[in-house]
Amino acid sequence: MSINGLSEEADVVVVGGGPGGSTLATLVAMRGHHVVLLEKEKFPRYQIGESLLPSTVHGICRLTGVADELAKAGFTKKRGGTFRWGATPEPWTFAFSVSPKMAGETSYAYQVERSRFDQILLDHARHMGVDVREQHAVTDVIDDGGRIRGVSYRDETGHEGTIQATYVVDASGNKSRIYRRAGTTRQYSEFFRSLALFGYFEDAKRMPEPNSGNILCVAFASGWFWYIPLSPTLTSVGAVVRSELAGKIQGDPEEAMASLIAECPMISDYLRNARRVTDGQYGELRVRKDYSYANTKFWRPGMVLVGDAACFVDPVFSSGVHLATYGALLAARSINSVLAQAIDEETAFREFEQRYRREYGVFYEFLVSFYDVHVEEDSYFWSAKKVTDSTSSDLESFVSLVGGVSSGESALAATQTLTERYKNRSGEFAAAVDQVIANKEQSMVPLMRSSIVKQAMQEGAKEQVRVLLGPDLELDPPLFKGGLVASPDGLAWSRPG
Ligand SMILES: Cc1cc2nc3c(=O)[nH]c(=O)nc-3n(C[C@H](O)[C@H](O)[C@H](O)COP(=O)(O)OP(=O)(O)OC[C@H]3O[C@@H](n4cnc5c(N)ncnc54)[C@H](O)[C@@H]3O)c2cc1C
Repeated sequence: MSINGLSEEADVVVVGGGPGGSTLATLVAMRGHHVVLLEKEKFPRYQIGESLLPSTVHGICRLTGVADELAKAGFTKKRGGTFRWGATPEPWTFAFSVSPKMAGETSYAYQVERSRFDQILLDHARHMGVDVREQHAVTDVIDDGGRIRGVSYRDETGHEGTIQATYVVDASGNKSRIYRRAGTTRQYSEFFRSLALFGYFEDAKRMPEPNSGNILCVAFASGWFWYIPLSPTLTSVGAVVRSELAGKIQGDPEEAMASLIAECPMISDYLRNARRVTDGQYGELRVRKDYSYANTKFWRPGMVLVGDAACFVDPVFSSGVHLATYGALLAARSINSVLAQAIDEETAFREFEQRYRREYGVFYEFLVSFYDVHVEEDSYFWSAKKVTDSTSSDLESFVSLVGGVSSGESALAATQTLTERYKNRSGEFAAAVDQVIANKEQSMVPLMRSSIVKQAMQEGAKEQVRVLLGPDLELDPPLFKGGLVASPDGLAWSRPG
């Protein structure tokens, strides 16, 4: 709110409280900066994009500190995906646990009701010190010609105000009104021009364990279906239809949905005893189109785009929330680095844009090959290896890509940050040394006090930690030649070495 007609000030204004906006806001507030987030709606609000990836759940949500809250929410665990796709007539399944980067405790993601998931993330941002204001719609940005310097908004009472900020983050989704102000144009994919028609069903069939929480994707003559088990009784079902068959979802949506389901024997079978939800937030059949695009630029001085405001590509591998939250992490690192005057703006945001485009690019390129439905699944696995330039097996490369961890960033894959692991491991080692002393092995104590022995022990400890943590004891290597690396806490950029 402006005081006496004067504009407010903040370090960062975030436009939009979806997963991209609330993640970025939290990661910047965690570095002590003053962040205001303006969200047009009153949460909870409906959104599509319900199938998540492990990189979001165990990587980014752990970094923001919301992972435990999510674990308590009781969302369906998604251990992988099941596909009736390609030349193989039988459905095939992959598990995230195939990739060592997601093995063990982190080998699952969640299927979420977005109204609940987004609310948890937004409340968490508030909890972490972000000034969250719902029912505040951003109407424009303040542009002095050289730089974006803030936003103007209108709240639910009709009051209009402005906030000046060092950075404006556009996280307002695919309907963004302000992304063009970053001097960018939206380039729609020529290849992915499908339309989606979707709704919700009660009491639909489940796949047998351990795959009952998997996303199921089923190709059929007109396109493909998604089938996402949101709870033991609620299922999200969507038909994605090729653009030349758009006529099939024009007209009455009820009839269109019924006839598409009838075209696909496997989905018909799964929905045989189900009832379509016809009331509440899931009551309506919705249509989306023109959702695969990337903007020509993701930032300009004073403004950065994340999530659907920047890019999105076909939903078959559920990459939307991953791209939004990963883009948010990369942008937060750049903002944090520049606000701390550690890295210049051009260098910090070049790193953001290169990494973001790389991640978008691997999904895009891989999906192009995935839409060749005349080959067997092994061919898809091989494509994933090629697209990600991976040295792992074909299957592992595929699972890493579709789990969102192909960049090799430990912040996305590991259960603890490097510093947490280092601290814990060195703590363990220190405790072991204390134990030796406590055990009154008196003969060793004078020896341990000697500085030469101390130094030798420190070297030994480093070596031991190196062995325990593996090659990633050092920061992740730069992803691009001459590029930056993530800081040990994952929240900013550092220069390698
Ligand atoms: C058919 C389809 C299926 C999909 N399925 C999946 C899936 O299974 N898994 C997946 O991960 N992704 C999926 N997605 C993609 C997913 O929906 C998005 O990628 C994701 O929601 C992007 O998050 P975001 O934070 O960028 O934007 P959003 O979630 O769209 O949030 C943007 C927020 O900004 C607010 N806002 C808008 N304008 C303003 C304004 N002027 N001022 C203030 N606030 C504003 C909006 O109210 C909204 O809350 C799918 C997409 C489509 C089209």
